Amino acid sequence: MSRIGVFVCHCGSNIAGTVDISQVLEASKDLPNVVLAADNKYTCSDQGQQAIKDAIVEHGLDRIVIGCCSPRMHELTFRKMLTQTDLNPYMLEIANIREQCSWVHKDKEVGTPKAIGLMKMAVAKVDRDRPLFTMNIPVNKRALIIGGGIAGMQAALDIADAGYPVTIVETTPSLGGKMVMLDKTFPTMDCSACICTPKMADVGSHPNITMKTLSEVEKIGGYVGNFEVTIRERAKYIDYDKCTGCGLCETKCPVKVESEFDQGMGMRKAIYKPFAQAVPAKPTIDAAHCRYLNEGKCKVCSKVCPLGCINYEDQDKVSTEVYGAIIVAMGYKLINWADIYAEYGGGRYSDVITGLQFERLVNASGPTEGHIIRPSDGAEPKSVVIVKCVGSRDPEKGRSYCSRACCMYGAKHAHQYLDKVPGGKCYVFYMDVRTPGKGYDEFYMNTQHDGAQYLRGRVSKIYEQNGKLICKGEDTLSGQQVTVEADMVVLETAMVPADDADRIGAMLGITRDKDLWLSEAHPKLRPVETNSGGVYLAGTCQGPKDIPDTVAQASAAAMKVAILFSKDELESNAMIASSDPAICNGCGACVAICPYQAITLEEVEMRENSMKVIRPISKVNPGLCQGCGACTVACRPGAMDLRGFTDEQIMREVEALCQW
Ligand SMILES: Cc1cc2nc3c(=O)[nH]c(=O)nc-3n(C[C@H](O)[C@H](O)[C@H](O)COP(=O)(O)OP(=O)(O)OC[C@H]3O[C@@H](n4cnc5c(N)ncnc54)[C@H](O)[C@@H]3O)c2cc1C
Repeated sequence: MSRIGVFVCHCGSNIAGTVDISQVLEASKDLPNVVLAADNKYTCSDQGQQAIKDAIVEHGLDRIVIGCCSPRMHELTFRKMLTQTDLNPYMLEIANIREQCSWVHKDKEVGTPKAIGLMKMAVAKVDRDRPLFTMNIPVNKRALIIGGGIAGMQAALDIADAGYPVTIVETTPSLGGKMVMLDKTFPTMDCSACICTPKMADVGSHPNITMKTLSEVEKIGGYVGNFEVTIRERAKYIDYDKCTGCGLCETKCPVKVESEFDQGMGMRKAIYKPFAQAVPAKPTIDAAHCRYLNEGKCKVCSKVCPLGCINYEDQDKVSTEVYGAIIVAMGYKLINWADIYAEYGGGRYSDVITGLQFERLVNASGPTEGHIIRPSDGAEPKSVVIVKCVGSRDPEKGRSYCSRACCMYGAKHAHQYLDKVPGGKCYVFYMDVRTPGKGYDEFYMNTQHDGAQYLRGRVSKIYEQNGKLICKGEDTLSGQQVTVEADMVVLETAMVPADDADRIGAMLGITRDKDLWLSEAHPKLRPVETNSGGVYLAGTCQGPKDIPDTVAQASAAAMKVAILFSKDELESNAMIASSDPAICNGCGACVAICPYQAITLEEVEMRENSMKVIRPISKVNPGLCQGCGACTVACRPGAMDLRGFTDEQIMREVEALCQW
């Protein structure tokens, strides 16, 4: 027979204003196995907690029910209180008679019976509570960062400066992401490379940072404090220990291909460094285009290299290491506008370019050394049309969301064009102008002073006529159809999730939102955490944002990692799923449904009809299980149960509710 103590909180008048506490006490006293029912003005106060601790001793209580606020508010408080007694902290149930009762009802006639019902359910459940125990998980104090853009670099530097080792994995040959491709950054117009490349150099030379470029994460197992990660470093065909980055190989290489870094506006060689300030400052051979690797002849780079660094036999290196925390900072890509906007020429007109291509054109270290020219004939465009929201705020063709940075970089592009092409004409088609940042609105207003003409409306068609691009649209302010002739059109295209977001998200158990961005645990209160313990988000992989917001989020994610690493051990969740091997039929439904990859099927030797058989049985990893309960619903034979929320306990609650 259990000995249950019931405590009802007034919460000042928060509960007592709409619930008759004396009636609740009266009803609770007579519930099965209840040996004490008492009330308190503020149960969470020191005096309130002391009263419960005293009652446990005085009445020999072995289970506690507290009728008070939401368990989200004070369950942990009361569990901590129980650790100061002889009771297991899980021999406690909270009846939420505030948020779910007194706060949603106006008078005691309704609030009181409902509170009594909630107390009955909690008493029925606590009667079946069993002591639960946590495990101590050691924390491996090494962080992994996926993505080497400004978000990944900022997070890596912050964690490394806090004294912890960091590995940064980047798929391309250099750190920097999109920021290092930009010419200037709004609204201050500082040179993007000048503020980005020192960070790249700091990452490259930091004693606590290991940099793996041209690399990708292949496999992730384990759990918070102990992620087992397999990383593939693709072959670079260069001995980086010997190479000084002199660049002779690159100058002599006879193969030219379109440069990814220059967004196809310039060329690179088959052995190349993507840009002058790349980190690492050493070249790599693009195996898909190297003449020797494909045709067996050439070897020019090897012949000219003074230090014998070229190694055509180089192989991918695959390694597996353990990390305590992971930050995903894999950024964004731009929507493939040509596939969805046939009315803009669908990619047929070379003078219709994207904003990122414009960044490379206007950049002094870009393929045209900063001269704005038409890709078709190299002439300076005397008129430019900038089209905002291409793919953003367009649920029919693109995405319904706003890409947040485009209003500002659209204004930046107008300013840059008018600055570099005196007398040039610049028209900006827009839906709305959104400039909610420090100094942003002033920057946009200045663009209009510079001479940019803003036209409110979408461009409905772009076509070529007599060597000009004709942009047709509606000016919704005047209600007139407008036709603008331009030499060049710049499309400010939507940011969309990076190609690999789905795969990385699935490996880490990170859910994706309706627009397929990686989801934070809570949009307001846990914006850098994910639902997987020890996994954090930084930058645009979580949604469109500009550089200041990206950097702020990266530092916040780094701080979360530093907090995690400040402990030597973590306590695992006690309320986790467990499978009964006698009932489990090894169907694997739990494995498929678990969002945290916490369940595996393991071959177990058993006796069936006095015969030895080997059967697959589901096994829960206590470090990974977050106690969501999805497996218990999927388990058809009923082998899976959630500790603290067993089927029996839930049925008891339902029965109590039905009797009420
Ligand atoms: C045309 C244009 C102009 C802009 N101008 C400005 C401006 O003036 N001011 C401003 O504040 N913002 C501007 N922005 C926005 C700015 O680009 C972003 O805020 C910033 O780049 C976000 O940084 P990030 O690190 O989150 O992402 P990214 O820059 O996209 O970096 C992500 C990195 O992760 C790597 N990666 C991707 N997948 C993987 C993987 N699976 N494994 C390992 N690595 C991976 C990528 O290669 C990349 O290096 C502009 C954007 C555009 C398109």
